[in-house]
Amino acid sequence: MARPYDLIVIGGGSGGIATANRAAGYGARCLLIEQGPLGGTCVNAGCVPKKVMWHAAQHAGSLKQARDYGFDIECKNFDWFLLKKNRDAYIQRLNEIYRHTLDRNGVEVRSGTASFAGANSVSLHGELLGAERILIATGAYPTIPNVPGAVLGITSDDFFALESQPERVAIIGSGYIAVELAGVFSALGTEVTLIARKDRLLRDFDATLAETLAAHYREQDIRLRWNCPIESLESAPGNKLTVHLEGGDRITGMDRVLWAIGRTPDTRGLNPQIAGINLDASGFVSTDQWQTTNIPHIFAVGDITGRARLTPVAIAAGRRLADRLFGGFTERKLDYRNIPTVVFAHPPIGAVGLTEEQARRCYGDDIRIYQGRFTPMTQALAKAGVKSLMKLITLGKEEKIIGCHIIGEGADEMLQGFAVAINMGASKKDFDNTVAIHPTNAEELVTLR
Ligand SMILES: Cc1cc2nc3c(=O)[nH]c(=O)nc-3n(C[C@H](O)[C@H](O)[C@H](O)COP(=O)(O)OP(=O)(O)OC[C@H]3O[C@@H](n4cnc5c(N)ncnc54)[C@H](O)[C@@H]3O)c2cc1C
Repeated sequence: MARPYDLIVIGGGSGGIATANRAAGYGARCLLIEQGPLGGTCVNAGCVPKKVMWHAAQHAGSLKQARDYGFDIECKNFDWFLLKKNRDAYIQRLNEIYRHTLDRNGVEVRSGTASFAGANSVSLHGELLGAERILIATGAYPTIPNVPGAVLGITSDDFFALESQPERVAIIGSGYIAVELAGVFSALGTEVTLIARKDRLLRDFDATLAETLAAHYREQDIRLRWNCPIESLESAPGNKLTVHLEGGDRITGMDRVLWAIGRTPDTRGLNPQIAGINLDASGFVSTDQWQTTNIPHIFAVGDITGRARLTPVAIAAGRRLADRLFGGFTERKLDYRNIPTVVFAHPPIGAVGLTEEQARRCYGDDIRIYQGRFTPMTQALAKAGVKSLMKLITLGKEEKIIGCHIIGEGADEMLQGFAVAINMGASKKDFDNTVAIHPTNAEELVTLR
């Protein structure tokens, strides 16, 4: 069949939009197909609305502290619905900005669910569309487990649709989405129980950070339940929900139960098997270092590949792919090492490089740990709470920094600059030789002993 497009992009989220815009900038004829609102998960049900909620929660924290700073204020009410309305309006503006940018770059955008009709063609509403190359950027969706009553629970997608604030929630999960939403709910006044399958939070992060966050959360009266696989959910009188745990224990009186147990690669309706595309055992699209699938002209970026599932990663992988395919930069590809990441918990966490556990596994006794705990100055006038923590992991005699882990106020903004230094190969000596900025929390990282 005819191939009028140089590139068809399936999925208009972070990865798909970035690739299409960059490819079109090189003159490629691009079609982008999106079944929902433009911007995908990040804009509509992920990073962006989540960060708005995080800011709201930060405001709640500041209001609590204000008395210690001499402000005689009383917070009479918090209007969840108003916040949602303002947040939705902001997101709608972002959707429009995405549309304008794609239009300006000459990317054709069509709505609907695309599925493979062959290795060079996709079907949209029954129409066959051909292209020289196809990109899969269909992302992932929240996982709901196969236990009785599971549909009584909500997911992170539904969290952003809530029009009123629940009084009591159970959040099932221990990854970053679970801890972020637990922090938001709690700071805004909802009673939170977080139920983890294993015995800690954030299993992909350094254990010291996870333990420190758990201490902070306990101090904020978030109930943490470890080693509690879920047996079922059940509705109870008064629109309440009961969570039944394996072993017979149960948690009652919940207004909402939120599943945050992971995300499933989105190949619903895509029919990748028609094009002969290989998926891995978990259903992610397998790609090589060039984002290429087993079919040489079909590529994948972002969450659907299962690698470092973050917005800037999807964008960076997509742009580099477009540079390589259409811009003549034949060696451009994303280096997946040293990707900085932040958990917008309360307080936030920032991490880049290896955890202590990973570093010990790779390098044994050749590593050295520098760690410091301190009370951030904003807390100095309040009753001392749990302290902030910073940790550097260095390798060998040169003490090259291979891991940097921070929990505390400002960790989210602090990490980006340190990640540049670490990516450039900075050593502990380089950190020590850098004059501190005082008084800040960040200065602790260049004064660790
Ligand atoms: C609650 C939450 C908070 C998050 N917070 C952060 C954060 O703070 N920082 C961060 O970096 N990352 C965060 N993420 C992760 C981030 O949202 C994802 O990594 C990112 O959106 C991945 O981009 P993507 O392009 O791969 O997929 P997506 O953004 O999910 O886009 C995929 C798009 O493909 C569309 N689609 C699927 N199938 C088809 C089809 N067959 N035809 C047409 N369209 C299709 C979908 O509708 C969707 O719009 C968060 C995620 C969640 C859920």
